[in-house]
Formats: sequence, structure tokens, C-alpha cells
Amino acid sequence: MSAIRLKALEEVLNRKPVWVELPAVKTSEYFGMNVFDKNKMQEYLSREAYESVVQAINKGIRIDRKVANQVASGMKSWAIDRSATHYTHWFHPLSGSTAEKHDAFFEPADNGGVLENFQGEMLVQQEPDASSFPSGGLRNTFEARGYTAWDPSSPAFVYGNTLCIPTIFVSYTGEALDYKTPLLKSLNFIDKAAVDVCQLFDKDVNKVNVTLGWEQEYFLIDNALFNARPDLYLTGRTLIGHASAKDQQLSDHYFGSISDRVTFFMREFEIESYKLGIPIKTRHNEVAPNQFECAPRYEEANLAVDHNQMLMTVMDKVAKKHNFKVLFHEKPYKGINGSGKHNNWSMQTDTGKNLLSPGKTPKTNLQFLSFLINTVKAVHDHADLLRASIATAGNEYRLGAHEAPPAIMSVFIGSQLTSILDQLEKRVTSKKMTPDEKTELKLDIGKIPEILMDNTDRNRTSPFAFTGNRFEFRAVGSSANVAAPMISLNTVVGNQLVQFKKDVDALMDRNVKKDEAIFQVLKKYIIESKKIRFEGNGYGQDWVNEAEKRGLSNISNIPDALKAFMTKSTTNLFIESQVLSERELEARYDIRLEIYVKRVQIEARVLGDLVRNHVIPTVIKYQNVLIQNVLGLKDIYSKDVFDQLASTQIETIKTISEHMTVIKNLVEEMIVARKKTNELDNIIRKADEYSKNVAPYFDKIRYHVDKLELIVDDSIWPFPKYREMLFTR
Ligand code: ADP
Ligand code: MG
Repeated sequence: MSAIRLKALEEVLNRKPVWVELPAVKTSEYFGMNVFDKNKMQEYLSREAYESVVQAINKGIRIDRKVANQVASGMKSWAIDRSATHYTHWFHPLSGSTAEKHDAFFEPADNGGVLENFQGEMLVQQEPDASSFPSGGLRNTFEARGYTAWDPSSPAFVYGNTLCIPTIFVSYTGEALDYKTPLLKSLNFIDKAAVDVCQLFDKDVNKVNVTLGWEQEYFLIDNALFNARPDLYLTGRTLIGHASAKDQQLSDHYFGSISDRVTFFMREFEIESYKLGIPIKTRHNEVAPNQFECAPRYEEANLAVDHNQMLMTVMDKVAKKHNFKVLFHEKPYKGINGSGKHNNWSMQTDTGKNLLSPGKTPKTNLQFLSFLINTVKAVHDHADLLRASIATAGNEYRLGAHEAPPAIMSVFIGSQLTSILDQLEKRVTSKKMTPDEKTELKLDIGKIPEILMDNTDRNRTSPFAFTGNRFEFRAVGSSANVAAPMISLNTVVGNQLVQFKKDVDALMDRNVKKDEAIFQVLKKYIIESKKIRFEGNGYGQDWVNEAEKRGLSNISNIPDALKAFMTKSTTNLFIESQVLSERELEARYDIRLEIYVKRVQIEARVLGDLVRNHVIPTVIKYQNVLIQNVLGLKDIYSKDVFDQLASTQIETIKTISEHMTVIKNLVEEMIVARKKTNELDNIIRKADEYSKNVAPYFDKIRYHVDKLELIVDDSIWPFPKYREMLFTR
């Protein structure tokens, strides 16, 4: 067998589970031990400093320099007690991962020794050399300064021996270069808009937090197999590989029992997560072999986003110890399920009420309906932006294929809520309601809590589904920084809530009673947003046809999807809400295109190399064996017998040559197309061309390579096969 593949398989077969001891104490006793949370702050900070941080968290009030020094000093003492030697500002650049630059705590002292030092200014602001982070032209390279600034609303934590301080990352001229800055702005924006709407129902509400609970899907693969697949380690997905004779047909992996090796890995990353205050609750097998999911309890969105980024880092690190590689790519394997990251999203008031959860009285239910319908309307009005917010090269392979929500945005709310919305649409009129009509409506609305109790007709095929007390944005990719979809979602819903309040106020100014005004506006929205609602099977071709009839977009390629960032409706939305300026939006659009281009470019190169340097030579080797065999038969047999005995081999020799010729031609064409595209300066055109003229070669080339995989002697095939990657563990 090919030496690399054989060695990899041997390594896997000899693996022993890496035992992980369960902690001796209950989880609650060490949960958050590496987080500088309120309890630790109380212990390590003066009262004044503590109060300032709390004010900064709750009300966004600035912390002055003197107090910052005190906070820094307390934070440092705590971190050193937790064995930290270094500190870093930890931020979310637009490249998608997280970034950190570690500095040691100590400073040389005057007397020649060293001193542990960490001042307020180091806590509050830093100037990392930002020239290598994507900026979409916002920051010229020669002016390499961007700065990071402390975000007190997400607590600092110690990971390894480093104190990590969550920060925003902005250019010297103040433009956001990260995900966190606009995320915080969007949270602020929706908070204000939602509070204003809550005030129509409940005067006690002063703050609304967005809640987010993400479900993280991922694949595991043994390190040795991973390292034997250049396509996996260079691009995150397999570019070639024939389907395994058995994969997920039997669904026998879903919720199945988890092997020891995997269990210990999960146990360890969960323990590490708990220390960091990440409240992981569930773990299970997914549908595809070697695919898994974990999910925490939901949290305030900013914290939840940070926790997801932290978790991915922790998983990656822990996996090494267990000889696994975690695949966060949306579609590592062709032909079986990809991985997503469902974003469960809702809003919660400072009075403890979930705004997407119905209440006990008609009044609270009317509030619930208002938030529900406004969300549906927002998704309807900005479907293309939401689609763009989750558009990445990896997700493109997943959406619309094998158990993934399609690239068509639609909203599922369940049959019972649909019927309530239908009633509202029918019963509400613009004239003054009679007492009877009011009673009927109240009855309809009063029914809501019971019906949601058994909201069992969960639709798994919808990209955006209401699931009883929250919406679940399912089209998000597994590797994504979830801040990206959250920024768009918060902003579109916030914007819609502002509009709702205006519309209701306008009617009330014309002496329409409050309840009736709300009903009338909701009715209008129900009608206007009707076409985005879809209760059927989102995976079928019927829906594609139906969606087209309804005039919904179905944008399956990334460059086209990303255009939604620059439409009039998007720019107005972000400028008015002050979440992103036009320049920032443009920069983001640019960066997304740039990343897309680079990824396709890399895939094209890797595929070319694999095919020319590995596949073709292997195939020729096998073909030579056949030729030798044929020549040998010719030597020892008469023509008649020979013709009979050698026909299969000769046929195979021919088939191999045919595939090789096609592959060779396609690869050459692809390289020409790539080179031509690379000459383009305009990034929009370049991305377009990559999508239309380069990427389509991938599947064409793969088709023939995968055919050859079936023909060539298994013992010389150079790469671990699908069955080996999916079933050995
Ligand atoms: P599923 O049945 O979809 O697999 P789970 O119950 O495992 O869902 O997880 C759903 C996620 O939704 C969890 O992270 C959970 O905390 C989260 N969730 C529940 N309620 C809310 C809410 N009000 N806001 C945001 N997320 C929520
Ligand atoms: Mg879910």
C-alpha cells in the first residue's frame, strides 16, 4: 500500500483512547474559575473600581484612567494567582479567527531586576501592528496602526498562561476592522428599539438583551489520516475521494453511542470550557459518520459570540492531545451532510421576560406577537442581506445540499401560529372594532401559550425557524464567526422595531386606541411579509419552483450573494442605525470577496497538484502493471486464448487512459482560467470569474479522479479513502 496511507492507517488502528479523569469536584465548583467575573472583581478590585466596571457593563459608561489603573492592577493580581505570565488583547479580525499578541507582564526595573507590571493603559488600549489583518482598503499598509480597546462587557479570562482581554479592533481613523465593534453597536441599537416597543406594553422595561445559543457541528478525523490528505489540511475539505459504499444511509450514527476516544476528547474540552465559563450543555453524534454536535445554554449575545470563538480554539487544542483534528469546514466530505452552526436567537428584558415567548395574558401575548411578526417582516425585507451574512466559500458547498437549509431565505413559524396570523389578517379592520370582535381576537391570542407547548411540528428544513420561544437561524456555517449573522439580524430587527413604533404612534396620533393601532400595523406587516413564510419541505425541488413563483431570491453563488452588502436598502439600513458606515460596509464587502477569491484559488492549486503529482503517477503505475500482465499473457498463449484472457485488462488500460486524458485537459484548462482571472484587478470581477470560470472545474475533474479511484489497485492508492476517514476512530 502507498507508504503514507499505510502508515496512517496503522497509526489509527494502534490508537488507544487518551484517558481523561473526571474532576474530583462538582462542575459548579470550578465553573468559570479562569474568568475574571463579577465575583472575582469584587475580591480583587476596590469598591470604586468594581462599581465603574459594572456601570461600564450595564450602561456603557466610560471608565476613567485612574480607575482603569486600579482595574488593571486587580486583574493582573488575579491573573498571576492563576499562573498567568503574559497578557494579550484578544480580538476578532475579519479574517474569521481570533487574534492575540502576547506580552509578558514583567518589565525591567531600575535596580536591574524585573517587576511585574500591567498599567491601566495596557488594559484599555493597545496598538498591535495591524498591517497583516484584512482591512478592505480602510488602512493603508504604510499606516499600519490600528488599535484594540477593552470591551468590559465580556470578561477577561486566563487561557494557558495568558490573560486574554476581549477587545474591539479599529483603524487609526476609527473604522471597525473586526466583528465585535459592529456587533456591540447592533446590540445597542436593537436594545433601544426593543425597549421603545416594550414600553407600549410594560413601562418597567429599561433594557433588552439579545440572547444567543449556538449549536456547533463538527467532524472529527484522526490526525494521521488528516495529515495524509493534503486537500484537507490545506483547504479544510476533501477535493477528491469516491463515496464510501456505506455512509449515512442507515442513519446509524445519529445519537448513537459515542466511542471512548471521542468521549474522552469531549470530556476534556468540556472541562476546559467550564473553566472558561462556557456553559456547554449537550453533546451528541450527528447524522453523518464521525460528525458531532455540542451546544451550550444560551447567553447574552456578545458573550455567546466570544464563547463560541473560544470554544473552537479550545477544541482545536484539546483535539491534538487526543490525536484528532476537528473539521469546522461546512462541507469536508462530498455527498454526505455538511456542518452548520444553528443560531438560536431571542430578546430578553431586564424584567426577565423572553420577548419571543408567549405569556399568560392577552397583553403579553400581543407583545409576543409584535416581536414575532416584526422579526418575520424584518427577514422578509432584508432576506438578501441575511443570506449575504452567511455566504462563505465553505457554506456554498453545504447550502442546498444534503440536509442543509437551502440558499433561499424563508421563515417557518409552525401551523398554529400561522393560523393565528391568518385570524389577525382576517379579523382586524381599519374601522373601530366592536366589543364582539375584540373578544374574538382576544380568544385567538389567548390560545397561544397552549399551542406552543406542543409545538412539535418542528421543521428541520427551514433556514430560519421559530422553535417555540426563539428563532433558529440555521443557514449559518459551522466555521463562521457568529457575530457576522448576528450583526445583520440585530440590525434588521432593530430597524423594523423602530418602524413599528413609528407606525403605531402615527395611528395613535390620529386617535386610534393603542391596541387597535398595534393590531392594524401588525396586520399590515403580516400581509406585506407573507411570501417569506414557508411551512413545507425546504429541501425539495418543489420549493425551489414555488420560491421562484413567489419572487424570492435563490442566490447560490457567493459573489452574487455578497452583492447584497452594497444595495441601497442595506447601506441605508446600516447608516441609519449607525452600526456600520458606508466605508466600513464597502470594506467588509471587499474583504469577503478577497477571502472567497483566495480560497477558491488555493483549492484550484491544491487540486491541480494532487492530480498531477499524486493521482496521475499512481494511475500510470497501475496501468503499467496491467500492461505487463497483458504482455506476459501474450508471450505464453496463442492468439485465440490471449484475446479471451486479456480483454478485461486491455479494456481497463483503455478506460484509464481515457480518464487521464480528460483529467489532464481539464486541469490545464483550469490553470489557464485561473491565470487569466488572476490578472484582473477589480475584486468584484475577479470573484465573479473565479466562481463562474474556475470553481466549476472542481467537480468535473473530481468526477474522473473518483472513477479512477474505483479502478486502481487499492493497495497503491495514495490517499486515505472516504471509508477510512469516516469510519475509523
Ligand atoms: P435543538 O432541539 O434545536 O437541538 P437544543 O435544545 O439542543 O436544541 O439547543 C437549542 C439552543 O437554543 C440551546 O443553546 C439553548 O440554550 C438555546 N435557547 C433556548 N432558549 C433560548 C432563548 N430564549 N434565546 C436564545 N437561545 C435559546
Ligand atoms: Mg436546533
